[in-house]
Amino acid sequence: MTELDKYAVFGNPVRHSRSPQIHTAFAAQFGDEIQYRSVCVEPGDFARAADDFFAAGGRGLNVTVPFKYEAYGYSTTRSSGAEQAGAVNTLSPLTGGQCHGDNTDGVGLVRDMIANLGWTLRDRRVLLLGAGGAASGVLGPLLREKPAALVVVNRTAARANDLVQKFATQGPLSGGGYELLETQDFDLIINATSASLAGDLPPLPGSLLNMRSCCYDMMYAVEPTVFMRWAAENTAWAIADGLGMLVEQAAEAFYIWRGQRPQTGPVITELRQAMEAG
Ligand code: NDP
Repeated sequence: MTELDKYAVFGNPVRHSRSPQIHTAFAAQFGDEIQYRSVCVEPGDFARAADDFFAAGGRGLNVTVPFKYEAYGYSTTRSSGAEQAGAVNTLSPLTGGQCHGDNTDGVGLVRDMIANLGWTLRDRRVLLLGAGGAASGVLGPLLREKPAALVVVNRTAARANDLVQKFATQGPLSGGGYELLETQDFDLIINATSASLAGDLPPLPGSLLNMRSCCYDMMYAVEPTVFMRWAAENTAWAIADGLGMLVEQAAEAFYIWRGQRPQTGPVITELRQAMEAG
């Protein structure tokens, strides 16, 4: 019997990861069966677990919270996107026990907004909330879409300022603390904070929205997040959660590993239905 190609996602916690379902569905589109497992890795054990996975013939590894920075250090070569983000979410084996690191979060977000939702980034005023791993992963791909302005704000203003310094040569980027937001409005607001996970809302004035503002929360859940409810109360033109981003970043990883581009639409629909069914 032929052995199935082995893939996995490492994280902690990782029990609720949708990645096994997504990648299994992608492979089925091409008539293939793969083995994709979610593995809860103990803090400090990432490198050993990844070594074991690849030594056992693992073909690709996704990495989620809190290991994206360790995965960056673990990889021997990196894509320019991963290099800039300082974080890796996709590892591929190279010869000689080495490993290549990519970051597919930004491509996933941009593809979801443009291809799936039909939103525009070019010449728009964009606000990015948060300056953690997710924010740093998406800044480069967002700037490549040539927005009129990209403002990044964070609770700890110094972290936003660091990102601005790092990406300043790539486009019209500025940032700082939430007090910057008192006098501006934006066409697109992206929530890359983890505030929604705790049911919190960053301090956002209602005046941030204009007639055509779109609001995107990277988090996804059955019920709208507190940020999505805030957007609805302030009559945002369009509102979305991060389920499409999750599937699109997975599709990019799948392409890196297997050279095949899966259809994402049916998988997004399938996941949404599964989430709603509980
Ligand atoms: P990090 O822990 O690296 O960063 C968290 C960020 O949220 C920091 O900027 C932090 O600010 C900010 N924050 C936390 N709590 C609050 C609060 N109460 N008010 C204001 N700001 C707050 O997390 P990640 O960047 O990895 O993830 C962020 C979110 O993106 C998560 O919800 C995650 O699930 C989601 N995500 C979704 C993906 C998808 O495919 N849909 C992919 C990747 C991430 P400070 O610096 O001040 O602490």
